[in-house]
Amino acid sequence: MKLYDVIIIGGGPAGYSAALYAARNARSVLVIEKLSAGGQMATTGIVENYPGFTDGIDGFELAEKMQEGAEKFGAETVYDTVIQVELKNNPKIIHGEEADYYGKTVVIATGAHPRELGLAKEAQLRGKGIAYCATCDGMLYKGKDVLVVGGGNSAIADALFLSKICHRVTLIHRRHELRASRIYEKQLANSKIAFLWDSRVVDIIADKKVTGAKIENLLTHEIQELSCDGIFVAIGRVPDAQLFKAQLTFDNNGYILADESTRTNVEGVFAIGDVRSKALRQIITAASDGATCSKYIEDYLNEQEHAV
Ligand SMILES: Cc1cc2nc3c(=O)[nH]c(=O)nc-3n(C[C@H](O)[C@H](O)[C@H](O)COP(=O)(O)OP(=O)(O)OC[C@H]3O[C@@H](n4cnc5c(N)ncnc54)[C@H](O)[C@@H]3O)c2cc1C
Repeated sequence: MKLYDVIIIGGGPAGYSAALYAARNARSVLVIEKLSAGGQMATTGIVENYPGFTDGIDGFELAEKMQEGAEKFGAETVYDTVIQVELKNNPKIIHGEEADYYGKTVVIATGAHPRELGLAKEAQLRGKGIAYCATCDGMLYKGKDVLVVGGGNSAIADALFLSKICHRVTLIHRRHELRASRIYEKQLANSKIAFLWDSRVVDIIADKKVTGAKIENLLTHEIQELSCDGIFVAIGRVPDAQLFKAQLTFDNNGYILADESTRTNVEGVFAIGDVRSKALRQIITAASDGATCSKYIEDYLNEQEHAV
């Protein structure tokens, strides 16, 4: 059995920043990632708000660089899905689908995933007209008609992006005004996006692929059918924290409670990045959490080592 100083669950920007700092502190570090490095960041086209890249940088490329940077200092990566954790145990035990892993400390960096509409055919039509990331899948709908569902910043950013590629973009929002920040107002005024206010998608029309949607007007309860080739769902994200429910404390939205120190209610367990209760979920704040947790990991490990 190999006992790591630090086990990090999730290889997004938070996870690999934590790995870089901990490895540079000469700690043995294992990152467990279920898919590939970068998490949500790797699905982003050009990232323009991460400092140091004047022309922006492709999210996938930045992910590769973050992984390489941490591994250069000795951090290891294993591709496995964590299915169960024993955080209060000493050492802490992380059960993957493929193997079990043992750590003196655990960093939770599992991020978040898009919220779904919750409609019956949604899962089976994913990739066949149902999409959750305009920058990833937008080009597949070049010259076509799409709906965008949502009213926050990501819905507007998606709709604006798609309006440059697609033939027709209709934004469906359940309220009568947008929650998106005012930065988008001018761009929206100059765009060809059509709006359906006070409305929600109640059914997806499809044979093998999406061909339309049934839209309910929430004021009149009338239902209309709109034909389209794709539906982009942009109604927020859900933290990937279900695994830890019985052992950690959470805020009302399901994010792990840990203050700016990133320490959770369990000693030696840290929560960083999008999965943590915080004000802003971005690459830079995920990376910042990764750096911060390394300081508290050192405090914890030093205390443990001196207690022996
Ligand atoms: C479409 C889109 C565009 C964005 N654009 C920008 C932008 O331009 N600028 C910006 O700053 N931010 C942007 N963001 C936000 C940014 O990507 C996130 O804030 C950031 O990626 C969060 O990093 P994270 O490491 O906390 O989590 P994530 O990036 O979500 O990474 C979490 C990782 O954990 C892994 N994981 C989860 N559960 C398990 C498990 N059980 N076992 C093993 N591994 C697991 C996942 O596979 C994933 O790789 C964008 C997000 C999206 C979706």
